[in-house]
Amino acid sequence: MAKQDDDFKKVISHAKEYGYVFQSSEIYDGLSAVYDYGQNGAELKKNIRDYWWKAMVQLNDNIVGIDAAIFMHPTTWKASGHVDAFNDPLIDNKDSKKRYRADVLVEDYVGKLDAKIEKEVAKAKKRFGDAFDKEQFLATNPKVAEYKERGDAILKRLGKSLEAEDLEDVKALIEELDIACPMSGSKNWTDVKQFNLMFGTKLGASTENTTDLYLRPETAQGIFVNFLNVQKTGRMKIPFGIAQTGKAFRNEIVARQFIFRMREFEQMEMQFFVQPGTQKEWYEVWKEKRMKWHLSLGLGADNYRFHDHEKLAHYADAATDIEFRFPFGFKELEGIHSRTDFDLASHEEFSNKKLQYFDPVENKNYVPYVLETSIGLDRMFLAVFSNALREETLENGTTRTVLKLPAVLAPVKAAILPLVKKDGLPELAGRILEDLKWDYNVSYDEKDAVGRRYRRQDANGTPFCITVDHQSLEDGTVTLRHRDSMEQERIKIADVNAIIGKETDMRQWLKRI
Ligand code: ATP
Repeated sequence: MAKQDDDFKKVISHAKEYGYVFQSSEIYDGLSAVYDYGQNGAELKKNIRDYWWKAMVQLNDNIVGIDAAIFMHPTTWKASGHVDAFNDPLIDNKDSKKRYRADVLVEDYVGKLDAKIEKEVAKAKKRFGDAFDKEQFLATNPKVAEYKERGDAILKRLGKSLEAEDLEDVKALIEELDIACPMSGSKNWTDVKQFNLMFGTKLGASTENTTDLYLRPETAQGIFVNFLNVQKTGRMKIPFGIAQTGKAFRNEIVARQFIFRMREFEQMEMQFFVQPGTQKEWYEVWKEKRMKWHLSLGLGADNYRFHDHEKLAHYADAATDIEFRFPFGFKELEGIHSRTDFDLASHEEFSNKKLQYFDPVENKNYVPYVLETSIGLDRMFLAVFSNALREETLENGTTRTVLKLPAVLAPVKAAILPLVKKDGLPELAGRILEDLKWDYNVSYDEKDAVGRRYRRQDANGTPFCITVDHQSLEDGTVTLRHRDSMEQERIKIADVNAIIGKETDMRQWLKRI
């Protein structure tokens, strides 16, 4: 645990030191669970958003993108069920006065059982070497089976109690598992209570004439209320999807995990409308497609897993999470939900407007069923960033800090470095920069010895350094240094653009899907 905490602290401080993520309003001591993205963070975030948008909207003929407003008519949230049911169960520790999500306390307990399973796997892997068969080990080892059985039983009971709103049993479970407050170690808990996560606000200038609004807690509803607008104006035929990215707001009870759980965050969501009865097939299709998207970035297949929901939300007939191995363990990165016709049917009822599709093949009207893929952009940022940060010991015994971001997502693609600040080298480097900046985000650095500049760019996540030296003036070549391998090669200045393009072009990466 201590190592995990330490690794996570390093991620947070590196994100600040290199201009990726800052605490919001830091000069006023910050605002809890709200963060700002700095000069590098904004670029990385934009690149992740583009990577998602391109894969989702541009490469799928039957998916279009929209940009709905954050403010929506308040009835939207009645219809969606958020006013009545968008609650988290909270529990306070009487001694530390700290507040927790009761379900998360239990899930973290099960997470510890999962970590024990992983430890057994690691031990066995060491013992058996190349002959190790992970699948077989997981299926047959009695210790693993015991942990797994225990974990499953606990989650099942939690799911059942939450479903039935039996908050007393949730508390009983916490007590039976002997869960202590992570801050104080105390087991002196209050009862479990429900807490609505939506932020309220007001629209209108005069006190008599205001309307109570909510800041949207998810972007999905902006898609549902526009279903017919898009279907008709885009002449869309089922099956088709509507995608959007944008801010969402939740008054999270516990927000202590950096940008993993924020009160203001960004989602990338897609609602896919299908014929009723076909949702199970489409659910499988989207599970597979989304996992492939993740794997295309090369963060390691071992770092992902599916986690099917025991407790289904009020709108779903199937749901799974794609979980990622964050520095604090496996946690939800993306949700894939089969939402039935709940949202459209409910908006029909509350708005008194028909939200149906005329199916020319079936020759009938129906309310389509919906598959949703919903990923947090900030969580994806954390996944990519934390996975990339490494401390490496080099052959000569020194260490380097390197941010091995996938080149396609890196904020700065190349740094142009004149070896010395004289003899016309800065001028030539400047000309190379001028040419590259039309196609890529590039930077220029002439301060300090070149070795130090390489380290700085490694820590910044820049995949390429282009060093201009005296030979460059004579034969029009430069040194291209690769961040990950630290290999250096001599290339023609005329080839630099194409080489960077080959490694960073989204086409190459998305083609792996
Ligand atoms: P959790 O169980 O972690 O609270 P959730 O199941 O409520 O998440 P969804 O409502 O399914 O999350 O939202 C879809 C995605 O939005 C999540 O998979 C996550 O990536 C992201 N997300 C949700 N809440 C937050 C938050 N507070 N901060 C950052 N990202 C979030």
